[in-house]
Amino acid sequence: MRPALSFTASPASPRLGLRERRDRMELWTETVGRPPAVYGERWASADGRWFRTFEPARSKLAAALARGWVGPVPLAGERWLYLGAASGTTASHVADLLGPSGRLYALERSLRPFARLLVVAERWPNLLPILGDARDPEGYGDRVPLVDGIYADVAQPDQVALVLANARMFLNDRGGALVVALKTSSMGRGLAPVAHLRAAEDALSEEVGLATSVRLDPFYRSHYLVGGRRGSGRSAVRSDRSRASGVRRPARRFVRRARP
Ligand code: SAM
Repeated sequence: MRPALSFTASPASPRLGLRERRDRMELWTETVGRPPAVYGERWASADGRWFRTFEPARSKLAAALARGWVGPVPLAGERWLYLGAASGTTASHVADLLGPSGRLYALERSLRPFARLLVVAERWPNLLPILGDARDPEGYGDRVPLVDGIYADVAQPDQVALVLANARMFLNDRGGALVVALKTSSMGRGLAPVAHLRAAEDALSEEVGLATSVRLDPFYRSHYLVGGRRGSGRSAVRSDRSRASGVRRPARRFVRRARP
């Protein structure tokens, strides 16, 4: 029998549960899906609701929240596009955060992870898998509506350009959010990670008012989470920041400088 636990709702989302455990704060998402586990995560109930551990070592979004990300987070009832959904590890948690009335359009290019994503989608009714190439938004334009947010984790040299092309086609002008898991080692060896970060921030700031980027070490070497909101510029960033972190205090293991 699965244990019943108690969670504190995160200020970032009522569907994101926090639980203190030993020396760290655990993240849990209230699930929209049915068991079994997607990637070995733990499941538990609390007050009749079911939650799953959202593991920083398995998801860059969870790692960013653990590292103090205060930028946009998918919210209940929203529609998001996910570029590079792979087999659904993070995508299933994004779908959890969007809740039963939200929708996640989960794009993946490679057949093998896409086949596993299809299996996850059978148990997550709000996750809509799309086989396609993020470099060709026209190719799936008829299946994706205007969205409230785009989350990208494609680990490609042109990841920022590809996100911007999708933003121009699908992102809501009023407050639409961009969140990019930036793998700097995929962007060329000629520049230091922080130089890649600055270049990405410059390019993305043409579309959105940026939140403070967070470095994902020690979970992901030379990765950052970068992003922000459209429309109301810097004030939108401030409102994201004022919402406070998904994790109320950084767990000791996670205490590092937010920026290099
Ligand atoms: N986001 C996943 C997670 O956290 O569970 C991991 C994603 S993995 C780092 C990158 C994925 O992006 C791979 O599955 C790869 O096939 C996919 N990808 C790479 N280039 C792509 C493209 N142009 N269009 C769509 N997917 C792409």
